[in-house]
Amino acid sequence: MIHARCEQCAEPTAAYDAIRYGSMETGHRLLCTQCFNAEVARRYGTTDLENVRPDPIDMVDSAGDSHRFHFQMRLLGPTMIVLDAFEVREDVRCGYEFRIMGEPDDDVLTLLGRLVEKMRRALSVRFLCAENHRLRISDQTVQGRISSDMAGFENMPVVVVDGKEIMWDDFGRMLMAFEGWQFRLDIADPADEL
Ligand SMILES: [Zn+2]
Repeated sequence: MIHARCEQCAEPTAAYDAIRYGSMETGHRLLCTQCFNAEVARRYGTTDLENVRPDPIDMVDSAGDSHRFHFQMRLLGPTMIVLDAFEVREDVRCGYEFRIMGEPDDDVLTLLGRLVEKMRRALSVRFLCAENHRLRISDQTVQGRISSDMAGFENMPVVVVDGKEIMWDDFGRMLMAFEGWQFRLDIADPADEL
């Protein structure tokens, strides 16, 4: 596992768990989640989040593929926390990602329960299917997440559908099955339910 080192507590932390914290004026530091939450609490004069980190869980999608989800809970302000679930490959976040918003006083298990329900709903649906070893759009709706091509030279989007990274060109080829048809593109906040 690639470890970053927290610039506050000097503990090694998984790269996917490290957060760049700061501003243009003060500069940025790489912090572990725990130190990040402590810094935010100090800045807003609120109590720190309990250091609760749900253990990773494995969930199976509708095609029988297993996905391991890690969790991260962050304090974003005096009245806002965010709980993220994400997959990790080679120490980088990838695949499915889910988010739920809450308040610092919320019960963590309740939040986690709501997030897992959201994950279950998403994993029960597939938008793509394979045909002659190529993926195609199964029906007439696709939901996913806009990501980026870390290795690419151009700033082109990569879409994550059914937990799979699809290059923009490949996604374009899938759309060609519907040449001449209309489409509607709605963009939603990561915490919103589609
Ligand atoms: Zn730390």
